[in-house]
Amino acid sequence: TQRYDVLVVGGGAAGCAVTASLLKRDPHLRIAVVEPREQHYYQPGWTLVGAGIFDRAQTERPMGKCIPQAAQWIRSAVAAFEPDQQRVVLEDGNRLGYRTLVVCPGLSLNWDAVEGLRETLGKNGVTSNYKFELAPYTWQLVQNLRRGRALFTQPPMPIKCAGAPQKAMYLSCDWWQKQGVLSDIDVEFCSSGAVLFGVSTFVPPLMNYIERYGAQLSFNTTLTAVDGPAHKAWFKQVDAQGNSQTVEKSFDFLHVVPHQQAPAFVSQSPLANADGWVEADHETLRHPRYGNIFSLGDVCAAPNAKTAAAVRKQAPVVAENVIAVLAGKGPRALYDGYGSCPLTVERGKVILAEFGYGGKLLPTFPLDPVVPRRLAWDLKVKMMPGIYFDMMLRGREWLAHPKHLPHEPLAVEAPPACDF
Ligand code: FAD
Repeated sequence: TQRYDVLVVGGGAAGCAVTASLLKRDPHLRIAVVEPREQHYYQPGWTLVGAGIFDRAQTERPMGKCIPQAAQWIRSAVAAFEPDQQRVVLEDGNRLGYRTLVVCPGLSLNWDAVEGLRETLGKNGVTSNYKFELAPYTWQLVQNLRRGRALFTQPPMPIKCAGAPQKAMYLSCDWWQKQGVLSDIDVEFCSSGAVLFGVSTFVPPLMNYIERYGAQLSFNTTLTAVDGPAHKAWFKQVDAQGNSQTVEKSFDFLHVVPHQQAPAFVSQSPLANADGWVEADHETLRHPRYGNIFSLGDVCAAPNAKTAAAVRKQAPVVAENVIAVLAGKGPRALYDGYGSCPLTVERGKVILAEFGYGGKLLPTFPLDPVVPRRLAWDLKVKMMPGIYFDMMLRGREWLAHPKHLPHEPLAVEAPPACDF
């Protein structure tokens, strides 16, 4: 069995960022990244593709240019974990050994949780910014709609970028308003949740936009089935007493956000918690039962907002702590739960929601975070892709240095050396 100092599962935002961060700290580490895809996606750009602001090509790069050169790229998928043997099993049955393991294969989009959805996606006015191939179709539909009914859905939490379902609505409404057709379009936001946004500070400024666009809010309302050719959708609606009923709605435009869950090979593994996500200490991101396993990104069970912004702060924490464990020390670097959601409320303005565990506000800039700003829009549209590809994926940790335990932790037994 090949054996590595660090084995990274997944070459997405988290896998590439943590690998770069590790190599920056120790260029001699023997690291492999297991990643099956040839393309790497900058998913935060898809909201902008769906609004005609980015071309989808701006959100895609060859994987080989994103995984750091000094790491070995293994073009395969992990199928199972054998943490007691310090091995993973690949889809072809081969095994790879490790001293430390970093688990970050993202989450799974479950398009099949909504009956009839898969058959009609990309047709009949049904779209989703959660898929690279479909975000351009959102923009096409937005431009073509002049009157009728537009529905935007949000599934149960947790989902990646919890603000993205409503961002699609705001940018669509802004376009329709500028074209003078918004008054002829009934807009409805159908959310499985009970509130517009999970951090209450940001609800009043978002409500201003809901009113400005005349959108109707339907909470506790979950999309369950779609008939594309008939332009009908069915929702399960739960009232305050807990009684549920099925509600039928017709539509001319339907933007769907799919149900989301941990990948099956993770949820069925010994690393998972009861909900299927990889268990991790919320601060050190280390697995509570396997001391040489860490997790970050969307698959991690820590209760932060699942965003690339969270990954930017998690990667240096995991990198420092992995290096400590390899040296036989306990982890000292701590993650504060930081995540961020740039809420694109209109073209040219963003409410930059930045917060940590428990909804604690963690603004990067000394400005009132509830005010929609041009500066935050420029950050999202002009600067973020560069910060992502040229800094975060290269281990350049601008404003991302972690806090530390105030004291030296107890020594731990170092994992056995690599036998290569
Ligand atoms: P991913 O980037 O999804 O990468 C996971 C990788 O693991 C993939 O390359 C995949 O191929 C690989 N993989 C999967 N299975 C296996 C396996 N079995 N073995 C090996 N590898 C595997 N975040 C923000 O910060 N700001 C935003 O404005 C924002 N907007 C968003 C808008 C949309 C529409 C979407 C979809 C997401 C948005 N996000 C945003 C969220 C952000 O993209 C994710 O949180 C981030 O990509 C998480 O990184 P990750 O590495 O955990 O997962």
